[in-house]
Amino acid sequence: MAPSRLVMKFGGTSVADVARIGAAATRVKREVDAGKQVAVVVSAMAGATNRLVEWTSAVSPLHDAREYDVVVASGEQVTAGLMALALQALGVNARSWLGWQIPIRTDDVHGKARIVAIDTDLLGERMAQGQVPVVAGFQGQGSDNRITTLGRGGSDTSAVALAAALHADRCDIFTDVDGVYTSDPRVVAKARKLDKITYEEMLEMASLGAKVLQTRSVEMAMKHRVRLQVLSSFEDKPGTLVVGEDEIVEQEMVSGIAYNRDEAKITLTRVPDRPGVAAAIFGPLADASINVDMIVQNVSEDGSTTDMTFTVAKSDLARSVRLLEDLRATLGYRALVPDPNVVKVSVIGVGMRSHAGVAQRMFSALAEKGINIQVISTSEIKVSVLIAEEYTELAVRSLHTVYGLDAD
Ligand code: ASP
Ligand code: MG
Repeated sequence: MAPSRLVMKFGGTSVADVARIGAAATRVKREVDAGKQVAVVVSAMAGATNRLVEWTSAVSPLHDAREYDVVVASGEQVTAGLMALALQALGVNARSWLGWQIPIRTDDVHGKARIVAIDTDLLGERMAQGQVPVVAGFQGQGSDNRITTLGRGGSDTSAVALAAALHADRCDIFTDVDGVYTSDPRVVAKARKLDKITYEEMLEMASLGAKVLQTRSVEMAMKHRVRLQVLSSFEDKPGTLVVGEDEIVEQEMVSGIAYNRDEAKITLTRVPDRPGVAAAIFGPLADASINVDMIVQNVSEDGSTTDMTFTVAKSDLARSVRLLEDLRATLGYRALVPDPNVVKVSVIGVGMRSHAGVAQRMFSALAEKGINIQVISTSEIKVSVLIAEEYTELAVRSLHTVYGLDAD
């Protein structure tokens, strides 16, 4: 039987100082001693990337993205070298690898490049000889041979991509939390750690601001069926497995309650209703790279006008308002009403596919608490509502209880 292969990724807090790098190296050594072929992926030390970004902006606010990448990729170079040294100090045969040395090939979108291919010939050879490659996360090499970075949090994606390319049996993501929870433990004291969660659910959680994993890394894990584990580097116990549905025997109806405060609502009142209004409103927003999330349209009784309500990221609100004000003559609406004080609360679970009444239960739970629902959107495995931001905690806690997620 081929020896099992493991990718171990250590996030910023897990390599925050020399002592923690040593502790992480000890964990790696344990797996090596158990006969596994291990590849390590590291982030920059906690805070290092922020500092590099600040320096870049201080020197040049409208920085050249290629040079931005040269600067911000450097944090991972430091930890890759230190981790290789720490492993060697424990008697483990280890060698650092920068993105270009492997190479990890990406497209040329500097600052948020996508991985297109990883050449694993060299790494695989070394691993077969018993060497542990320590790979600098977050970075790659563009087609112009320049250094690229994968977007903030991108070393998760480096790790998953490497695990896929190496056909690893699992990719362990070591972080400062011990797993994925049914909800944000800062808000819900009774939140429970999940033993397993599906890729689909994790994607919803990740994109809703449960910032344990970079969203793109989950997409990639799902596509390549990489089994992921999120676990704490400070405790010695299993974390949460992110896997395919087939690995989950007893599927709960709802797996988690997520919320996202990064939403802002815009209502355009009395837009003359005719074919093409939605395109006329959302086309220009899309052209400006503004993502619209939830949408509701309410046609007036006589059908001549419609109110259009939708949400954008809070950071896009000012820009959206300006753009729509400029279009006022064309669109012909009566008023533009922006509201940043909203939150999106979502109930997530693949079990919804086979259970009716999940949404209804949510609506009545919120009604019981006197919380008004402003916008609703649903997908196959998620029901989301937009409510006033002041009710965030109340809504999330109530829903957590209603769906039986509270820890006992
Ligand atoms: N160091 C990078 C960041 O802080 C990448 C990562 O840690 O995943 O965004
Ligand atoms: Mg991270």
